[in-house]
Amino acid sequence: MPSDLTDYHAKRSFGRTPEPSGDDADASPDDTDTARFVIQKHDASTLHYDLRLEADGVLKSWAVPKGPSTDPREKRLAVPTEDHPLDYADFEGTIPEDQYGGGAVIVWDRGTYENRTTDDDDETIPVRRALDDGHLSVWLEGEKIRGGYALTRVATGDDERWLLVKMKDDAADARRNPTSTQSESVKTGRTLSEVAEAGES
Ligand code: MN
Repeated sequence: MPSDLTDYHAKRSFGRTPEPSGDDADASPDDTDTARFVIQKHDASTLHYDLRLEADGVLKSWAVPKGPSTDPREKRLAVPTEDHPLDYADFEGTIPEDQYGGGAVIVWDRGTYENRTTDDDDETIPVRRALDDGHLSVWLEGEKIRGGYALTRVATGDDERWLLVKMKDDAADARRNPTSTQSESVKTGRTLSEVAEAGES
């Protein structure tokens, strides 16, 4: 997963979509331990959640059809998508139907995360290398989702797939189901349908 926005730009017409072009983003690598994450709920051709983690000056992204679970027994499919610009983390609005990813987007959850991927000697593995190796462990501090999550690549090539699994820690809770019970945007309190009705803003 190399970091660049070529695919992101190639898929979009910025005169037509309200999504950020990313041209204003500070693309310098961020080596601090805490970085931002966002989970956007996106009513495209199929409803899904987009998990995005700030790393190497972009948002590393996966489409998670069912969204994250708080139950460590649940394995959630996560399909990698193109890197997104950092300012996409605040994007909420409606992508026109004739554009790539057409449909409403809300900021379903957001916060900071810490890379907790380590090698056999307990040394931290940088996110870039962890993604190349196909295994990333993170600690998320969002409003709805927190605690340890493991992202593991299970298929490579054109059909690359990962699994997103809650780790066993004090934030694990098999009874919570935040994708069902907490459906509103953490940015505006709106639901997907309210954003869709409001149009592109
Ligand atoms: Mn999406």
